[in-house]
This record gives sequence, C-alpha cells and structure tokens, in this order.
Amino acid sequence: MDFSILFQGLFMSLNKKKDAIIIEDVTHTYKTETGLLPVIKNLTMSIPENGFTAVVGPSGCGKSTLTKLISGLLQPDEGEIFLNGEKIAAPRPTVGMAFQNPVLLEWRSILKNVMLPLEIVPNKLSLEDKKQRAKQLLSLVGLEGFEEKKPSELSGGMRQRASLCRALVHKPEVLILDEPFGALDAFTREDLWQVMHNLRKKEPFTGILITHDLRESIFLADEVVVLSGRPASKQFFVKVPKSKTPKLESLYTSKSIDMLKSLRKQIEIAQSQQEQNK
Ligand code: ADP
Repeated sequence: MDFSILFQGLFMSLNKKKDAIIIEDVTHTYKTETGLLPVIKNLTMSIPENGFTAVVGPSGCGKSTLTKLISGLLQPDEGEIFLNGEKIAAPRPTVGMAFQNPVLLEWRSILKNVMLPLEIVPNKLSLEDKKQRAKQLLSLVGLEGFEEKKPSELSGGMRQRASLCRALVHKPEVLILDEPFGALDAFTREDLWQVMHNLRKKEPFTGILITHDLRESIFLADEVVVLSGRPASKQFFVKVPKSKTPKLESLYTSKSIDMLKSLRKQIEIAQSQQEQNK
C-alpha cells in the first residue's frame, strides 16, 4: 500500500474541513447574444473558518460573478466550490449578503427588516428569540433605540449598519459583502470599518469582501486577493497581519503603505492585461 497517497488524501480532507470556502479550479463563461464571454478561468482560492478575505481587481474582471458562484446563484462550467465541506449545487439560503445599496423594506421597521432572514431561513427560534437576536445585533452596531424607525428615517450609514445586521442575523455560513461601503462618504465609510471590526470580534464569521478601495481591503481583511484581468484568476495575494483592535492610524505605517503600493501595482498589471484581452 502506498502510504504517501493515503497521508496526502487524509491531509487534503482535513484541510477541506478547516477551510470554510474552497474554490477549486473554477471556470465560468457567460453565453451572450454576441458570443461567449469567459469571465473566470481556473480560479483556485480558499478562506478558512472565520477568515475574512478581500477580493480586488479591475472593474468588469468577474468579482460579482464570483460572489454569485459562491452563493450558488450561478454554477461553474468547470471546477467546484465547497462551503463547509459541501459542494454548492444550488442557491444557498444560509449565505448572507450585503450590497452597496442596502435594500431595506420601507413598510417594515428596522427591527423587522433585520428579522426578515429568520422568517425565511428555517430555524427553531420563537418570535421573542428572533426579536432578541435582531435587537442584540442592532445594539452591536450602535442602532439601539432605532428599532422601530422606518428605513427612510435613517442616514445612509445607519441603513448600511442595519443591512449588515440583516445579513448576519441568521448566522450565515459565509457573509458576502459586495462593495458595501462604496456609496458612503469617506468618514461614514471609516466608521463602518470600525463597526465591522467590532462585529467580527463579537460575532465571528467567514467573510468575503469585494471592494475597489485598497485601504478598506487591508484594514478589514486578513488576506487580500488580486484577480487578474478578465478572465479572472488569482494573480497575487497578500496576508495582512491584524492587531486585536485595529486603528485607522495603522493605514499610515510604512508597512501598510508598502502593501498598498504593491497592491496598486498588481491592479495596474491586471488592468493592462484586461485591456489587451479585449
Ligand atoms: P466585476 O464585479 O468585477 O465588475 P462582473 O462579475 O460584474 O465584474 O462582470 C464581469 C463581466 O461579465 C462584465 O464584462 C459583465 O458585463 C459581464 N456579465 C456580468 N453578468 C453577466 C450576465 N448575466 N450575462 C452576460 N455577461 C455578464
């Protein structure tokens, strides 16, 4: 018996258990009226349990497509995606999502908006438990006292805080954030970064963040992956050391500045490659 193969298999299966998201050699091509559009090609990456990875890359390289593949809304043409060891073969209600424009329902209070996933995703919580869970999250993001307000009575930053709570209320297997802070002014955005850190500390979750903001990527994520120009594959990645209480000032240290420079360089490479592939 070849023990090396046995050990290799055992190692791989242990690894699969440890990583919450595994993207294995994934390729996806859109079939459009004008022909085939290869968007993702042989992409391999993984995110450990409670890890938080930022994905950056040129506009139109396939980042949103990747989030749709992870949430099961799209199926890859080739390769496989695993969520907590299970192959994704259909849309997963246990994935939490937050987008640039938080779509909150105006006829529901903030509390009821946050409770919505608990009404959709099967669970054993009583109505009172659901309320408590939603209230607990709202208080974590500083929205205590705003539970009965309607979305239009809140500022953009507050609505985004509520939207984060809604995405997390059912303890999703993974939280997908697609440019969640892109529409906010710089100061509100930085406030929200701190809120995210606080949330992660109190409510650890596995997350993937799509962003154009390199400072945001290194401030929030444990790892930043740069995608190549379309069709996207993993071009470059960097691990970001994190302190327990990250401060905005950390973005101005020489280490952070060097990291931002090399990420910027990689994006430029990806951009020019995408231009050439057009
Ligand atoms: P990104 O999020 O990086 O900006 P997307 O994943 O949204 O990129 O899109 C990648 C490419 O795929 C773009 O050229 C876009 O126009 C195209 N695309 C996105 N969705 C579809 C679709 N449903 N059908 C055909 N083409 C699409």
